[in-house]
Amino acid sequence: MTRAARRYNEYITFLFKDERSIIMSVTKEEALRSLPAVDQLLHSPELKLYAGRFPQSLLTKIVQDTLAQIRINYRQAATPQVLSPTEIAARVVAALEAWERLRLQPVINATGVVLHTNLGRAVLSDAAVTRMRDTAATYSNLEYDLASGARGSRHTYVEQLLCRLTGAEAAMVVNNNAAAVWLTLRELARGKEVVVSRGQLVEIGGSFRVSEIMAESGALLREVGTTNKTHLHDYSRAIDEDTALLLKVHTSNFAFVGFHHEVSREELATLATTHDIPLYEDLGSGMLYDLKRHHIGNEPTVAESVRAGVDVVSFSGDKLLGGPQAGLIVGKKRYIERLKKNQLARAVRIDKLSIAALTSTLETYLQPERAREEIPVLRAILMEEQEVRREAEALAADIRSKLAPALDASVHPTTAEVGGGSLPGVELPSYSVRLVPRTGKAHHLERALRFTSKPLIGRLFDDALWLDPRTLQAGEREKIAPLLREAMQALR
Ligand SMILES: *Cc1c(COP(=O)(O)O)cnc(C)c1O
Repeated sequence: MTRAARRYNEYITFLFKDERSIIMSVTKEEALRSLPAVDQLLHSPELKLYAGRFPQSLLTKIVQDTLAQIRINYRQAATPQVLSPTEIAARVVAALEAWERLRLQPVINATGVVLHTNLGRAVLSDAAVTRMRDTAATYSNLEYDLASGARGSRHTYVEQLLCRLTGAEAAMVVNNNAAAVWLTLRELARGKEVVVSRGQLVEIGGSFRVSEIMAESGALLREVGTTNKTHLHDYSRAIDEDTALLLKVHTSNFAFVGFHHEVSREELATLATTHDIPLYEDLGSGMLYDLKRHHIGNEPTVAESVRAGVDVVSFSGDKLLGGPQAGLIVGKKRYIERLKKNQLARAVRIDKLSIAALTSTLETYLQPERAREEIPVLRAILMEEQEVRREAEALAADIRSKLAPALDASVHPTTAEVGGGSLPGVELPSYSVRLVPRTGKAHHLERALRFTSKPLIGRLFDDALWLDPRTLQAGEREKIAPLLREAMQALR
């Protein structure tokens, strides 16, 4: 069964949990004859409500599909269980709602995981959203140079911004960082060897493996060192005339504890220069705002990696940077120019809406204090513990005032995380509202909240549902109590 089909079935089961079909002793023919006509269903009071929400053709198709499925069930059953027209209408409604659940739509993230991969990673700043909408709604100078009136490049401005922000000589942007890794390996090392520490041959989320992306790029992997320790001499011994590149990879959602050694960027850069081969670092997240200043994690900023002498650095647009999905590549001009000329750069090209959101986000970073205030990812990570606590108290009070005694709401210290493979092991001290329904189970509530008019996603543990306000966006806190009420009513 596909995931979509499983989700659909889950939904149907949820909807019919209390309903038992009326069992009558009828023949298959009688059962089939008892089925209502498509038109009759379409005009039923249950389905009338959906006429405005669905195009007529789709509504009709879903009614037909539902009837066809019931017909199959009747034919296959030894003694068919005949459904009433109301039950059939309810099945259609379930199918319509399942359709609406699948649509890409906003959800409220109350998990406390800032870069939640399943929930769309980075939330864009207001400025980025506006720029994106403005660009989408009409024509733009995407590949038109307004100064000369001639053809321009979509990359020029974003390259300028990235060079200013990171101190690099050149830059380019592609569809995502996976594409950046693939393109870089392909252009700089196809058919030749890439030296990489065994400890950095990681698999990150979505089964993206460094070793496999390398195979796809046509570059040959030359592993050095051991899982926990790699020394400079391991790299230097591996370099010969077949070597095209030294690669350093961020271990993403994985961190070393204990007996561990890796070679510094500076040492690798010196080694690479000596042999006149480039050093490429896949930074993964790519931080432009230095979180170390706030004692959060120990990640280098992109500028630090460039300053350390790394020749090519790539990173994501929608992780710690807090922009749209994109793969950003910065570094020495002689290498970036080669990447730009690669035929496959077109295949992994970034689209104009992502450029709009990305350039707006990067402009915000020109004033780091503004970035800290306006970029939702940074705001969530840097939210003071006491501020989270105040938000949690306000949320709990709102829930109690509207839902006590049916729902018990209390505030407790918890830990939030950055997520998205960024800053593994970093715990953000947080506060959450602990919800326990007086009757029924927390996991029923958690499930019902996914079926409300605006899905609300929290965290289940210790027989309770926990909501961390750190990841709420403006105006969402006020929506939670009404959504909880909606969910509790559906559970009754
Ligand atoms: C996240 C990540 C990638 C992939 O980036 P996407 O933008 O998700 O394609 C590649 N390498 C590392 C180390 C990462 O953390």
